[in-house]
Amino acid sequence: MSSCQSILNNTFSRIATLPDSGAVASYIPELAKVSPDYFGVCITTIDGHVHTAGDAKTKFSIQSIAKVLSLSLVLSKLGDELWKRMDFEPSGTAFNSLVQLETENGIPRNPLINAGAIVICDILCDLFKDPKRELLDYLRMVSGIKNLEYSEAIATSERLTGYRNYALVNFIKSFGNIKNDCDQVIDLYFHLCSIEMTCEEIAYTFGFLANDGKQLNTDYIIVTPSQSKRINAIMQTCGFYDEAGEFAFKVGLPGKSGVGGGMIALLPHQYTIATWSPKLNAHGNSYRGMKFMELFTDETQDTVF
Ligand code: GLU
Repeated sequence: MSSCQSILNNTFSRIATLPDSGAVASYIPELAKVSPDYFGVCITTIDGHVHTAGDAKTKFSIQSIAKVLSLSLVLSKLGDELWKRMDFEPSGTAFNSLVQLETENGIPRNPLINAGAIVICDILCDLFKDPKRELLDYLRMVSGIKNLEYSEAIATSERLTGYRNYALVNFIKSFGNIKNDCDQVIDLYFHLCSIEMTCEEIAYTFGFLANDGKQLNTDYIIVTPSQSKRINAIMQTCGFYDEAGEFAFKVGLPGKSGVGGGMIALLPHQYTIATWSPKLNAHGNSYRGMKFMELFTDETQDTVF
């Protein structure tokens, strides 16, 4: 990756001059306020080099990218017991879909779709007396951002409009796979999705998944090497909803997107790459983020395949 910064700069300029496509997420009113023009990238290598372009230091709503971190927390506490409550198969459906739950008895396909992340939040309510505080402390520890806070504005915006998520938590509870009060579980879920970070912070935070579960710089063990391998496998197969196959085909890295327009992907033992551009394609994934990752990995040929 010696020429990483120049490949990054060239790829960034190429994409920045192409027409952008898609639309900023508007079903969460607070996200609709974000300018569509932001575009940032950060690449962090596990040996400590940081390369950036564009708006890499501007905070944005990381949304479902945070689902990987709530999965890491629960997996580190429960181990394989977790898989009694959900599966680890791609869904091939939209992020907020209810359809499979009906025939699969309220067992979500995986922890990275809304249904799975909501069950993860239910488990957090079982594990901790004050799950909102414990989750925030964990996110602060993993990210190294000591003053990280939930965005109450975004959490409130989701609370007022998240009809599908209310439907999901109630539907799953009807099958007995939510143990706690639906209001408490969904409030935790909305707060998880409200976290804000910059591309630079996301690229550092996800370093542990490129480093066999150990936090970059500190070597603190966040998950075991085997758990890290499994989280990466789930990101590879489930991280981009019904576009996971296309992401594997075009980019060839495990990763995760969020409807705030952020994306994270990583190559184990090498680097992490975070992008942010708010306009989303029809699958809810950032249009320019997808394009950037595709062109970047075409150029470097540094992928898992
Ligand atoms: N908070 C969003 C929702 O539940 C997350 C979706 C995403 O980022 O994919 O709709």
